Amino acid sequence: MGLVVQKFGGSSLRDADRVMEAARKAIRAKHGGNQVIVVVSAQGSTTDDLIAKAAQITASPSAREMDMLLATGEQVSIALTALAIQELGEKAVSLTGPQVGIVTDSTHRKARIKSIDTRRLVEALDAGNVVVLAGFQGMDELGDISTLGRGGSDTTAVAVAAAMKLAGYDVTCEIFTDVDGVYTTDPRIVPDARKMDAISYDEMLEMASMGAGVMHSRSIEFAKKFDVPLMVRNSLSDAVGTWIVPEAEWMGEFPVCGCALAVDEARLVLEGVPDRPGVSHRVFAALAGANIAVDMIAQSVGSGGRASIGFTVLNSELERTKKTLGPLVAELGATLSETGKVSKVSVVGAGMRTLSGVAEKLFQALSADGVNMKMITTGDIKISVLIEEDAPAEEAAPEGGEPIKKAHLESRKAVKGRKALRAVHAAFGLAAPRKGAGVATEAGGTGFKVRPSPLVVPATRDREAAIARLEGMEDVLVSGVQLNADQSRVTIHDLPDKPGNCSRVFNAVATGGILVDMIVQNLTGPERAELSFTVPRADLTRALKRTQDVVQQIDPTCRVVGDSDVAVLFVLGVGMRTHTGVARTMFGALAARGINIVMINTSEVCVGVVVERPRGEEALACLREAFKLA
Ligand code: ADP
Ligand code: ASP
Ligand code: MG
Repeated sequence: MGLVVQKFGGSSLRDADRVMEAARKAIRAKHGGNQVIVVVSAQGSTTDDLIAKAAQITASPSAREMDMLLATGEQVSIALTALAIQELGEKAVSLTGPQVGIVTDSTHRKARIKSIDTRRLVEALDAGNVVVLAGFQGMDELGDISTLGRGGSDTTAVAVAAAMKLAGYDVTCEIFTDVDGVYTTDPRIVPDARKMDAISYDEMLEMASMGAGVMHSRSIEFAKKFDVPLMVRNSLSDAVGTWIVPEAEWMGEFPVCGCALAVDEARLVLEGVPDRPGVSHRVFAALAGANIAVDMIAQSVGSGGRASIGFTVLNSELERTKKTLGPLVAELGATLSETGKVSKVSVVGAGMRTLSGVAEKLFQALSADGVNMKMITTGDIKISVLIEEDAPAEEAAPEGGEPIKKAHLESRKAVKGRKALRAVHAAFGLAAPRKGAGVATEAGGTGFKVRPSPLVVPATRDREAAIARLEGMEDVLVSGVQLNADQSRVTIHDLPDKPGNCSRVFNAVATGGILVDMIVQNLTGPERAELSFTVPRADLTRALKRTQDVVQQIDPTCRVVGDSDVAVLFVLGVGMRTHTGVARTMFGALAARGINIVMINTSEVCVGVVVERPRGEEALACLREAFKLA
């Protein structure tokens, strides 16, 4: 017998009718011959309302009490849903996270799951019940109630599916929400966004962590780590939704599968940092120690022995970031400044690993739209650009918590970000049908109508061993470190910070047929940017010539420097960015050997660093050791 885990989001349980509808879906799955676990979120805007209630009492609520408060929303939903199922004549039992032994760490408001005890779930299922489980909550080892961060019910659902899979069940997980599936971008912002039939775990992970609020990014980490087949679908219809599955070969044909907008980040610049090994480690270790996840990192190569590090954090973490770095900034004789309100637009696609020209097209689309990019970073399957908004930030998200997704997005204007998202969506032709998004795949039909078991790559013994080594279910899984010693770096210093300049540079390089891999752009001074990118070593001379020619036309005072002596290291895995310990381990290991980091790029599935080439092998060995990879 199969086990179906169905998750219903807040809008899908908004009122009694919707709760009855969810109950009917669960019963239908049960009558289809499955055992059923239903994971529910709080109804409608309950969680937002509870946060607002606390705000009427204090501006700085304690995280523990907030968890006590927020967990009540889901408790209402489980009881109502169980009552609805019983009313329709089926057996149901409601259970809270603590009741089923969802054990988390003690980081209130963004706790991570350590383990799930499946015994009570199994007993309740075996007794013939539909089990209705509260999403978003657990209990720490002290017995205190914890919550997993905004949108965390997705994570509960997938984590429970993973735990049941490990216990031997044949599991599928369905995420019911208020849209038909995962779209090429947020359909509320871009009405012609197209629903996808399938997307890979890595693509969804990047999309979610870059702002596609349809799924909690941590839920995709679980799905990938434990091979849980997932479908996102509409709670108001029976339409087939979007399968989130291991990467199929055809997915690599598309350089971009979707794009996303994030409006809840703040950009900080640390200037005048001594350019020597270990400095970035100290900065990011301090942030990791405070559990602050850094998103984009653009470290400039620097001149005169001083470098600058630009990075972004969630708005909600801005004050804590400044406080945390204060003493270090003073000690380094550096300055930390915060820029105005920013939006981040990202494009994501598995095909980017092998297909070139994405950056060029993206920059072209943005420059044609008059958008000026404040920061650029790349990952192996995504490129992100930061855009400065005109309007001042209207409201910050609540301290310590993740932002209020939908309400937040709507309440903040992000005018330029939305406009840029539309331009990018159009430039990549994402509204058009393609394989995996409206057009049949070779697998027949959409290829994803049936359970995608044949698509699921069985866990290899290596991976099983890696999973067995994890102490908690949600520990980061680092799967490998790779070295590419065939790259070289081009850096443009003092590039005028104007729309279109990056586009011109990459156009010049791309028309020479040169593949650009990693890109980092950072503002270094007033109106000036530093742009670095890597190209194959064999192409360095040509890349330099082309860059110099175009830069000469832009502004003859810019300096173009090439360095053929670099090596690029990639640490691959899942949850690389949000697990703050990854950057700390990585920078710490390199710093301990005195290896200087020249460029850094982070994403959920890959952290890339550029180091001096003679030390590439040594860096590879030390990272393998640091991440305990054989
Ligand atoms: P739930 O309450 O069911 O968890 P969410 O509000 O968390 O629902 O997620 C669904 C919303 O995500 C949609 O209404 C949509 O506006 C938004 N969204 C953002 N990006 C995407 C995307 N790429 N595809 C689909 N929906 C998206
Ligand atoms: N109710 C929680 C929230 O609104 C969790 C969730 O909906 O997934 O963030
Ligand atoms: Mg959600």
